Amino acid sequence: MLDNPVFRMSSATACPKILVAEKLGYEPKQKTRSDLDRLQYYSWLEDVAAKQIASLGYEVLDAGLCPLCTNPDGGQRSGFHVGLNFPLFSLVGHVDRQVRIDGKTYPVEIKSLGRFSWQRFKNNQFESFHDYEGQELCYLEYYKTPGIYWVLNRDTGDSLKYIVNDHKNILNLPGFEKIFLAKTFAEIEEQITSVVIDASCGELPNAPFEPDGKCRYCDYQYLCLDQVETDVNKTSEINIPELSEAARLYQEGVRMEKEGAERKSSAISTLLGFAKSNQPKFKISGVSFSYSGQKTRTTCDMDLLKTMIDDDTYNKVIRVGRPYDSYTVRVVKDENGGAE
Ligand code: SF4
Ligand SMILES: [Zn+2]
Repeated sequence: MLDNPVFRMSSATACPKILVAEKLGYEPKQKTRSDLDRLQYYSWLEDVAAKQIASLGYEVLDAGLCPLCTNPDGGQRSGFHVGLNFPLFSLVGHVDRQVRIDGKTYPVEIKSLGRFSWQRFKNNQFESFHDYEGQELCYLEYYKTPGIYWVLNRDTGDSLKYIVNDHKNILNLPGFEKIFLAKTFAEIEEQITSVVIDASCGELPNAPFEPDGKCRYCDYQYLCLDQVETDVNKTSEINIPELSEAARLYQEGVRMEKEGAERKSSAISTLLGFAKSNQPKFKISGVSFSYSGQKTRTTCDMDLLKTMIDDDTYNKVIRVGRPYDSYTVRVVKDENGGAE
């Protein structure tokens, strides 16, 4: 039996499989250097949002680093340390800021989102962000007051301003919209209790794998690998003529690239043979060829380098490219109907 397990408020409503896996000691995927850099960047954005709130004339309180807690990566947690204890488990969280209004303090939760997620929050609020809802419910359960919710658009600096669960209408702040959470804290308590029971039995619960949803950034994906591998087969077939044409063009392109690479490789071998045994530079039939002797390529083992230099030096030498659309496209059935 687990000894009164502690759950983080920020993941109180996370996939139950993750919560049980954490309690049973399964290892999460290691965070990469760029994951850690990104998290650091988001925490700096919290300061930006806090300054925006202060610029509206509110007294914003910052707890700084928590003297009690460290992050899983070893860094120190910041925020107001809050805890709730129940017979079977405890919840611990860190509230980003507090504001003091008329002598009373209210919790402030700050989120910084990319423009698409920000728009989604604007349209649906917590309906599309269940983990945020669970976390906010925990904070409000601790404070027993309404909460202030500030959502910063990382790309534009725009912000969404909400007062959450002000059932007694005690907080009226200009420019802030009042919203109410669909879930109750009792539901979270119930959910975590069943996680504790599963963990006590040493069993991972089943959870539906959602490649485009909650599972995308999960650090325990390896526990669901059998579902990941069959994901391509599960992708539904659609029938849209313009898209079929694009898919056909894609297949044609892949075939032409392959043929092109084979032709180029055969031509280069003939041209290089001539250049090496006759003359190193020549032009023929609209092609010029120049042989410059043998060379070697130098590559760098980035993983090893990271262990040898400090963070400042590493940050100075790396170059982060422009954001790009990441996608996977595979030929799963060729134009003749055969599998690749
Ligand atoms: S991959 Fe998805 S279903 Fe599996 S543990 Fe992670 S969130 Fe849960
Ligand atoms: Zn703490």
